[in-house]
Amino acid sequence: MWSFETDPEYQKQLDWVAQFVKDEVEPLDYLGVEAYNTRDERRNRAVRPLQKIVKEKGLWACHLGPELGGKGYGQVQLALLNEILGRSHFGSIVFGCQAPDTGNSEILAHYGTAAQKEKYLKPLLNNDIVSCFSMTEPQGGADPKVFTCRAEETADGWVINGEKWFSSHAHLASFLIVMAVTDPQAPPYRRMSMFIVDAETPGIEMIRNMPVGHHARPGHAHLRYNNVKVPKDAMLGQRGDAFVVAQTRLGGGRIHHAMRTIGQAKKAFDAMCERVLSRETQGTRLSDKQMVQEKIADSWMEIEQFRLLVLQTAWKIDRYKDYMKVRKDISAVKALMPKVFHDVAARALHLHGSLGVTPDMPFAEQVIESFHMGLADGPTEVHKVTVAKQVLRDYRGTNDMFPTTYGPYRREEAIRKLGDLIETQVAAE
Ligand SMILES: Cc1cc2nc3c(=O)[nH]c(=O)nc-3n(C[C@H](O)[C@H](O)[C@H](O)COP(=O)(O)OP(=O)(O)OC[C@H]3O[C@@H](n4cnc5c(N)ncnc54)[C@H](O)[C@@H]3O)c2cc1C
Repeated sequence: MWSFETDPEYQKQLDWVAQFVKDEVEPLDYLGVEAYNTRDERRNRAVRPLQKIVKEKGLWACHLGPELGGKGYGQVQLALLNEILGRSHFGSIVFGCQAPDTGNSEILAHYGTAAQKEKYLKPLLNNDIVSCFSMTEPQGGADPKVFTCRAEETADGWVINGEKWFSSHAHLASFLIVMAVTDPQAPPYRRMSMFIVDAETPGIEMIRNMPVGHHARPGHAHLRYNNVKVPKDAMLGQRGDAFVVAQTRLGGGRIHHAMRTIGQAKKAFDAMCERVLSRETQGTRLSDKQMVQEKIADSWMEIEQFRLLVLQTAWKIDRYKDYMKVRKDISAVKALMPKVFHDVAARALHLHGSLGVTPDMPFAEQVIESFHMGLADGPTEVHKVTVAKQVLRDYRGTNDMFPTTYGPYRREEAIRKLGDLIETQVAAE
């Protein structure tokens, strides 16, 4: 049974969300306040009342199960919601489902002690605090096997030493989830463990805090952990289980990025359509020119294809309830996302001419953001490798000189099977 329809009751809620985001949330993007800075009173004055409305509407943190105060929405429902929230930097903040806090809260919910849940998870779920995921190292992110940041066991806990790179929101976070080598002699995927580190712990040094692009605010930290002491129960999951723990957050994280990216791509597309219907050159509107029409058509088709793949992947996650079974699809979505976003945003930028390259329009930032989508949570190439490996599992090679689709073989086979029926024609050829 195939259906591409949204339940009418849920559609009503989505319509409310779309209007609310347009009228109340998108304006926040223009106030110059940091979406994640929960310590900024100006930000809180603008954001808290909107979060209150969302809570009253029962739409707060819908990705969470009811035991954690959410609605337990499946991924399809979340996809339809997130593609609206993705239009604004504040969308997911106002609705309590922002990365990387969603993934970090999943880790804490799974592996945290009761005390850690009380101290960190509760305020995180309420957006009273934000968090940081500190995994990538300066010498390489795509291959975690080269990580060297070390956690050594002592009588009463662990001591962490080493550097981390692009730890987003470290300057605002109340705690960091840190991946560190505990067992250097173990096989590569058993060498590391995951730790929760309170941001106030002595020894966390911020070497630099980097922006993305030229004009953005710094937010991605190069950190050095200098003899950072954490207690025994700071280890999340079992010793050597860092990759297992990381997977808890990555499956959901990747597909949620994709859902929000649909919103951003549509935002660029909407602006592009308005522009080509408004601007005239050489006596006709841009929309009358075929090369412009091609850009509109390509953009619409690419967004629709991508959206269908995201929704189908979301549906499979709901159906199988096992990210590993949907690995190929999630990697495909992750690999496709930066390309669709980049191409649509670049066309929107181009069709706005010189105005398009200025910070007065969102496109230059979106183009850079598309590269963020292609790097964070693993570069595109790595995900394409996953897709290819998974796809090829369903195929077998042949030892024959010629492929099984070789025409003479197929013809021989066809004659064996059907030759009697069409004897005269075969003989005549
Ligand atoms: C905006 C942003 C936010 C981020 N936030 C965080 C965060 O909060 N926490 C965190 O831990 N990390 C974060 N990262 C880091 C991100 O996970 C890494 O950038 C990513 O894993 C790639 O690592 P790298 O930058 O070291 O690039 P490298 O590993 O050096 O890779 C560079 C390039 O080499 C190519 N490449 C790599 N591997 C392969 C391969 N197997 N086959 C073919 N080509 C390959 C790709 O083109 C790749 O882009 C963030 C990154 C960005 C851009």
